[in-house]
Amino acid sequence: MNPVNASHARVAIFDGPGRPFRLADLEIPSRLDPGELVVELSLATICGSDLHTHAGTRREPTPCVLGHEGVGTVVAAAADRTTWLGKRVTWSSTDSCGRCPACTTWRLPQKCARVFKYGHVSLNEARGLHGSYASHLVIRGGTHLVEVPDHVPDAVAASLNCSLATMANVTERLPDPCAVAVVQGAGLLGLHGCGLLRAAGVGRVIVVDPDEGRLARVAEFGGEPARSHEVPDRAADVVIEVAGAAAVVPEGLRMLRPGGITCSSAWCIHDRCSTSPARRSSAAASACGVFTTTHPATSTRRCPLPDTPHCRGARW
Ligand SMILES: [Zn+2]
Ligand SMILES: [Zn+2]
Repeated sequence: MNPVNASHARVAIFDGPGRPFRLADLEIPSRLDPGELVVELSLATICGSDLHTHAGTRREPTPCVLGHEGVGTVVAAAADRTTWLGKRVTWSSTDSCGRCPACTTWRLPQKCARVFKYGHVSLNEARGLHGSYASHLVIRGGTHLVEVPDHVPDAVAASLNCSLATMANVTERLPDPCAVAVVQGAGLLGLHGCGLLRAAGVGRVIVVDPDEGRLARVAEFGGEPARSHEVPDRAADVVIEVAGAAAVVPEGLRMLRPGGITCSSAWCIHDRCSTSPARRSSAAASACGVFTTTHPATSTRRCPLPDTPHCRGARW
């Protein structure tokens, strides 16, 4: 999205479900507070949460500039952050205080007592320019930045700070042994999870989805596409649900071996799960939930696409 000139950002304003996006030119602040940066976006991606907001199943203050996944170049910086000028970066999708228990003791800055979520705030809050469906956005002082290596293309880097970071969190704790994993859902979360599990050494990653078109991408990420009914009972050491539907959770428990781990990361937002905990108890299995992302800067996991020419050896 090209700006009108260097002093203004072009933004796509969301006024509410069912209403068309509205293009506007907003002034880029000429004076930045400590820690602030201005990033000129080169690519933004559409997260599932943006789709939910657009459809009206998730409520956000309006008017606002949606979008929290993106990659771009730092074109202005406060005096204390000038070392970032000119660098191609992505950023954590939340800004946090760095002092509260969530930021320090719990290591959950995304649950900061004063959390600020990019792409989820009113245009009238803070600087206004905090969504990635824009030519520029303003990064706040408590936001982690990651420099993107030249060999990682924008299309790979843009979703790093949300969907890939979420799956890094989801796949951080695996049972031992973990030879077989089932991922329920072959969207971007599922594909990222598949790549991460394979990179972590899981021998078989079976990805189930009712949509043939989504399953067609699974092999590229090292997984085996399948339909849910094709997976035998108790076949998996770990089952990861990223389908966004509570209805698939009992099916995932059916696939889980005794002592395995299930993790759901999507259904809690817009669905309800009524599955009985008895099955989980009888299987001596553990369950964990991941609501949102971790900071990419804090992860030492390898890029899930190590064999693609643009991404080989990248760390994020
Ligand atoms: Zn997201
Ligand atoms: Zn905090």
